[in-house]
Amino acid sequence: MNVRESEAVEALLLAAGHERVAGEEDAELVIVNSCTVRQKAEEKALGKAGNLLAAGKITGVMGCAVKRLGADIFRRLGSLHFAVGPRRFSEIPSIVEKIISVPASVRPRRIADFGDNEVPSGLGAHPVRKPTGTFADVQSFVTVMIGCDNRCSYCIVPDVRGHEWCRPAEEIIAEVKCLASRGVKEVCLLGQSVLSYKDGSFAFPDLLREVQKIDGISRIRFTSAHPSGCTDALIAAYRDCDKVCRHLHLPVQSGSDRVLAQMGRRYTAEEYLSAVAKMRALDPEFSVTTDVIVGYPGESEEDFEMTRALMEKALFDNAFIFKYSPRPGTKSAQLPDDVPTGEKERRNQILLADQERRGVERNSRLVGTVRSVLVEGPSKRNAQRWSGRDSGNRIVAFEPPAGISVGDMLEVRITEAHAQVLIGEVV
Ligand code: SAH
Ligand code: SF4
Repeated sequence: MNVRESEAVEALLLAAGHERVAGEEDAELVIVNSCTVRQKAEEKALGKAGNLLAAGKITGVMGCAVKRLGADIFRRLGSLHFAVGPRRFSEIPSIVEKIISVPASVRPRRIADFGDNEVPSGLGAHPVRKPTGTFADVQSFVTVMIGCDNRCSYCIVPDVRGHEWCRPAEEIIAEVKCLASRGVKEVCLLGQSVLSYKDGSFAFPDLLREVQKIDGISRIRFTSAHPSGCTDALIAAYRDCDKVCRHLHLPVQSGSDRVLAQMGRRYTAEEYLSAVAKMRALDPEFSVTTDVIVGYPGESEEDFEMTRALMEKALFDNAFIFKYSPRPGTKSAQLPDDVPTGEKERRNQILLADQERRGVERNSRLVGTVRSVLVEGPSKRNAQRWSGRDSGNRIVAFEPPAGISVGDMLEVRITEAHAQVLIGEVV
């Protein structure tokens, strides 16, 4: 979501006559888009802004950490030029104008716009760039909703991003059509809890069906999904829409019903597994990925073992493991953060090792099969190869045939499986 909002700000600044430079060394102005989901992310963003100020750049911070800190951000970064909350990013061009329209000696600092529950304008702004020859030319994020009303006990998102608000369906569809006309082939529909999307009686599965109809778009992805949204209507939309990728990122957070109840997740381990089973009934290779938190307050060894067991049953294709980080103002921040750091780390390592093994096992089943791969560009790991993703979001690397371009759809026979990547030959 931050990538998408940074892009929207880029579009607004380009429209106001600014130019994008290759790297921060060449920039006069740098804006740090911050995250505060975990304490570490926030520290990283503020540290980065501090370094930019020390290097003499005009510096602004946008995003969630700004909303959490409010005016305190200027106590942390006394010389910061501006700070803008997540729902106020469309104000950035006019703030920048105020700063650069005066001589450096009288340049204002500490301009603040924290915002509240307003609806930002500019949610649909996309920069019109020269083709970059990268995947950014053919893939685009599209915001369908902002904010979140779920209130999971550990999560600061509802406090900093405000209440759920859904964009009108016509606006989203018009945006995807416009992107398709510019050569975009894959869209990823974004929201904190996209399956709760609603525009009157028009719900998320209806949106998938409408985007399916748009010529030029060949793949539809979306994130993030709350397990409560895995309804029959969603399954039916998957079944009917071949452009909707066979992948669901479905954060489980824990495998212990006791912990799930404390987290306010509104499902049990068994209900979660039945949602996974519905997806795999559509296609046995349906890829399910997840987020897990280790070391939630009071998480016992037994709770942790339940998470391990659930992950084994769900046969996740990939998993992101997070060490619990208490966030001020959330419900769980009132509970003692009683799992020691070393123990959180141990649990983290165990789940990562389990997932590594499971990833290899899951991917090995694909050796010999042919996957349709949307080409992203030269592989980052091996200069001889190019890579792309299959419908299940698995990275597939291969030797590029002559004349290959980013955005091509190739059929690749898998010859080798690793936990995070498949290797294959173009057929
Ligand atoms: N809206 C999305 C994700 C929000 S944050 C969703 O519900 O899926 C992304 C992930 O960060 C969450 O899924 C969770 O696993 C993790 N996370 C959120 N708050 C956290 C915290 N306080 N400590 C550790 N991990 C956290
Ligand atoms: Fe946070 Fe839960 Fe909302 Fe996701 S669904 S953003 S974890 S409150």
